[in-house]
Amino acid sequence: MRVCVLSGGIGGARFTEGLRSTLGPDDQITVVANTADDIWLFGLKICPDLDTVMYTLGGGIDDERRWGRAHETWNAKEELLAYGVQPDWFGLGDRDLATHLVRTQMLSAGYGLSDVTRALCRRWDTGVELLAMSDDRVETHVLVDDDESDSGQRAIHFQEYWVRLRASVPVRGVVVVGLESATAGPGVVDEIEQSDLVVVAPSNPIVSVGPIVGVAEIREALRRTTAPVVGVSPIVGGAAVRGMADQLLSGLGVEVSAAGVGRHYGARDRGGLLDAWLVDSGDEAEVATLREAGVEAHARPLLMSDDALTTALAADTLEVGLALRDRPRP
Ligand code: GDP
Ligand code: CA
Repeated sequence: MRVCVLSGGIGGARFTEGLRSTLGPDDQITVVANTADDIWLFGLKICPDLDTVMYTLGGGIDDERRWGRAHETWNAKEELLAYGVQPDWFGLGDRDLATHLVRTQMLSAGYGLSDVTRALCRRWDTGVELLAMSDDRVETHVLVDDDESDSGQRAIHFQEYWVRLRASVPVRGVVVVGLESATAGPGVVDEIEQSDLVVVAPSNPIVSVGPIVGVAEIREALRRTTAPVVGVSPIVGGAAVRGMADQLLSGLGVEVSAAGVGRHYGARDRGGLLDAWLVDSGDEAEVATLREAGVEAHARPLLMSDDALTTALAADTLEVGLALRDRPRP
């Protein structure tokens, strides 16, 4: 069994932990992670989603924060503050810093981001293959109001919107810089084509999954593949589970509901992404409207509140996916 997961950070990493528990040693999991959250700071290349997946599956994540390293200290950050250098809002831990140093050094030596990711993962026993969606520089910028600019708007890096502003200002648009010309990371297209199942993780639809499926080669591979594409809603009961995805979705005119995101992705046989969409049991009433939009939806418990529930969600996702694979094609 070969499963390919399209993932952001926290939601995708947690789901993949469940998948790893439910699959056996002969099965293969590949995670294609979003790299559009990446940012250069203090001369360092930081890849939050790749690192969240690597630390989570490698057992090095801080369990409370669910990002960054366990047993972290913040000496370097304090020293930077003492020098008064900006930005002062990004969480740069000492242990985490080592990852960014290794990555930046390897990139400067001419390795691609995928090679670097493989090298970093050698230290962590993740049990999965972790791939960057692209080796090209792709960065999500958010358009926000700015009275001082002629256009009345200003583009800021997604991390500034998310971390410094805590998603507290209205979103007027999202621009993923570099996406149009980005090529898929090495191995990504093959994996999507050869997998038995592709899962769209319960990740942020706009800034995590959006950039991955926005890479032209990936979008085409997802259209072509004979593997079913099954998605898991990150929206439960009309709100994002832990987090601030609501403002981004509503700012871009996507209804903040499991049905809204399902319709946003669309049915694969109507030019969209999904063969099936999992919504929470409490959102069962939305299944009918999704079916009207051509999206086959199933209601299952979607909250990954503990390991058992997370594993059960992964098992449900596999079951829905395998039933689709075995179904005769028209
Ligand atoms: P990020 O890159 O770290 O923001 O992480 P992701 O994009 O992978 O995931 C963020 C999304 O995960 C949020 O929009 C949440 O709604 C979703 N999420 C977090 N916990 C859960 C959960 O227990 N169940 C489901 N269905 N979604 C979750
Ligand atoms: Ca992210």
